[in-house]
Amino acid sequence: MKNIIIHVDMDAFYASVEIRDNPALKGRPLIIGSMPNERGVVATCSYEARKYGVHSGMNIKEAYRQCPDGIYMRPNFDKYKRVSAQLHDIWKTYASASEYIALDEAYLDVKERAKDWNGARKIARFIKQRTKEEAGLSCSVGLAYSKTAAKTASEEKKPDGYFEILDAEAFRELLADRDVRSLYTVGPKTAEKLNAYGIHTVLDIRNNRERVEKLFGKKGIWIADLAMGIDDRDVIPYRSEDAKSISRELTFQEDVSDFVFLKEVLFLLSLSVENRAKRVGFQWKGVSIKITYSDMKSVSRSKSPVDCGTAIEIYNEAVRLLEQVPKMTVRLVGVGIYNLSRDEYRQLTFDDLMGDLSKRHEEEMREVLEALGNHYGLDFAGNLDKLQHMETLHKTVEYMRKHIKKSDTRT
Ligand SMILES: [Mg+2]
Repeated sequence: MKNIIIHVDMDAFYASVEIRDNPALKGRPLIIGSMPNERGVVATCSYEARKYGVHSGMNIKEAYRQCPDGIYMRPNFDKYKRVSAQLHDIWKTYASASEYIALDEAYLDVKERAKDWNGARKIARFIKQRTKEEAGLSCSVGLAYSKTAAKTASEEKKPDGYFEILDAEAFRELLADRDVRSLYTVGPKTAEKLNAYGIHTVLDIRNNRERVEKLFGKKGIWIADLAMGIDDRDVIPYRSEDAKSISRELTFQEDVSDFVFLKEVLFLLSLSVENRAKRVGFQWKGVSIKITYSDMKSVSRSKSPVDCGTAIEIYNEAVRLLEQVPKMTVRLVGVGIYNLSRDEYRQLTFDDLMGDLSKRHEEEMREVLEALGNHYGLDFAGNLDKLQHMETLHKTVEYMRKHIKKSDTRT
C-alpha cells in the first residue's frame, strides 16, 4: 500500500463560520459574497440557500433571482483566516505531511501515524470530532489510497460526511457511470471536447483511452490514468524554503531588438507566473525581470514592495523595469516574483470576488489579450490554459517573433 491519504473539506465554510457566530442565521438561506446590487459572485452559501439552486461561483444577481429572501453578507476573510489556522493546527497533528489547498481544505498524509486503514479511520473520526468540538464546525472527510480518491470521497457524503475509497478498483466502480466532470481534472472545456467524441462517463474514458490521449496529449494520459484510479501523487508539505521565487524565462531562437515585442512577451510570461503562484497558493511582494543580451551579458531589475495582485500588475511593473535597462538586442527575457508568502486562502479572495480593482484588471487583461490576438491572428484569450505550458508559450512567442515585421502599427 503506497499511500494513506485523508482529504478534509469544511462544509460551506464561510457560511458555517457566520452561522456559528450568529445563531440567528441558523436555518436561513445565507449567501456570502457580493451584495445583490453589486457586480460579483457567490463565495459560498448555506445548505438552505443551495436548495434554491444557489451555488458558489454563481453570479450574485442570478443568486438573487433564485433566492430573493436570502440573507446576503460580505465575507470576513480575516475571521476565516483565523479559523483556518486553528483548523490546520488540529489536522496537522495527525499527519506526517499536510498540504493546504484552500482555507478550508487539506490533504493529509496519515500513513505513518495510522499504520493501516483501521488506524486511519480512527484519525478521520478524531479529526471530525475535534473540528466540531474545538472550532464548532462540521467537515467532511475522505479516506483513500490516493489524493484524487480522497477528494472524491470527501465530496461523497457532504455535509458532515465520511467516506472511504480504499483501492483503485473501488474508485473505478464508484465513478464508472458518472459524468466525466466527476474527475476533478476535467473542467467544462475538456468535458465539452470529450462529449463531442461521445465520451460522457468515466467508463467511456477508460474504454477510449487511445482517443483521449490523442485528443489531449500528456493531459490525456493523466485523465485516462485517473479514470483507471491511478494517481501516485504524494501529499506535498509546504516548506518555507520552497518559497523564494517563481519565474519564467524564454530564450529566443534569434535575437530580438524590438522592445514592443519584448513587452508582449513580458505580458505572456506574467500570465504564466501569476498562474503558477495562484496554483501553489503564493502571494508576492516583489517583481523582477531578467534580460540577457546578444553578448551574453545579463541584467536584472527588481522592485519590492509591490502590491500582490494580478498578472496585469506584474506586467505593468515588469514594463517599468524594462524601461530601466539598456536597449540592445536581446537573447533572453524573464519575469519573476519574489518575497513570497503562503496564502492558504487564495482560491477566492475578496478582490477576486468583488473588487472593482480586480474587475478593472481583468478587463485590462482582456483588452491586452485581444489586441495581441488581433495583431498576430492568434486566439490568446481562448487558449490561456495552453499558454501555461512553457513549450506552447515558447512556440507561440517564436511564431510572434517571426511576424514582428508587420508590427509598425502597434503602439
Ligand atoms: Mg469546503
